[in-house]
Amino acid sequence: MVFNTRNFTLSSGLKLLLALYAISLLGCSRSDEVGQCNAAPQAPARQVVIIGIDGLRTDAVSPTLTPFLFQLAESRGLAWGRVDVSNGRTQQTYSAPGWISVLTASWASAHGIVDNNSPGPVKSETVFERLQARKADSRSILMTSWKPLYDLVEGRLRGLPELHHAAFLRKNDAAVEQEVLTTWRACQPDLAFIHLDAVDEAGHDGAFDPSDPGYAAAVRETDARIRRLWEKALASPSAQGALPQRLVIFASDHGGIGNKHGRYSEAERWAPLLAISPSGYPAVKISELVEIGQASLDFVQ
Ligand SMILES: [Zn+2]
Repeated sequence: MVFNTRNFTLSSGLKLLLALYAISLLGCSRSDEVGQCNAAPQAPARQVVIIGIDGLRTDAVSPTLTPFLFQLAESRGLAWGRVDVSNGRTQQTYSAPGWISVLTASWASAHGIVDNNSPGPVKSETVFERLQARKADSRSILMTSWKPLYDLVEGRLRGLPELHHAAFLRKNDAAVEQEVLTTWRACQPDLAFIHLDAVDEAGHDGAFDPSDPGYAAAVRETDARIRRLWEKALASPSAQGALPQRLVIFASDHGGIGNKHGRYSEAERWAPLLAISPSGYPAVKISELVEIGQASLDFVQ
């Protein structure tokens, strides 16, 4: 929303009232350049956080490379699972089809994004839209540094100004982390998708292989980043002092071989996955990439 303030002579009191009215109507307002998520009236009772680690191979999840993520599973009596992101060698193992499959709970044959050059529009409904259709006052956010993903999702959502959805495009994972740390407490979305890209970048720079020093370093760094998000942002209560019951899903979109991915080798088509439900809740079983969206919506309800 853009106000032309050139000729405004309103008293400051009236301006304030208008601003408060606008905030109450919009909730999370959306902006292409500057993402922002305004405070919800109250923190949701249940919250889903999907953390997408781009290009993380299944064999990169280990006590040495991902001590935090490994231990997180062990402490809950869980083991990391894996999913075939190629849907039986029918979907190319690129990031755009993979993440759009996560965010629409459908394969590329339905959502239409077959590779990283697919221009869109995304043909399937996103979980952000479905969430709000079920729960009118809900809020969702997407954070990423990868512009093609941001453009695809926002391209679909742009025509829906009533949607309480905030999208953040930041310059790298460090900036994404900073955004989460600074806005989480106030925003407290019902559903968040946080995308981290550094592991994929390291794979392309060197090799998608835990024995590649650059790849291993990026995996370690991402594990440490997620630990900080977990301990600093997710563990802190909302502005009202509440802490939602939270389902956290860690997922990747593809593996890789050499410095590439996109095809159907075993190293490319399997991706690690872990769902951590709150204590006292049944374990959430996810065996396909496209089940993440439905599991998320089911939990929020
Ligand atoms: Zn890649």
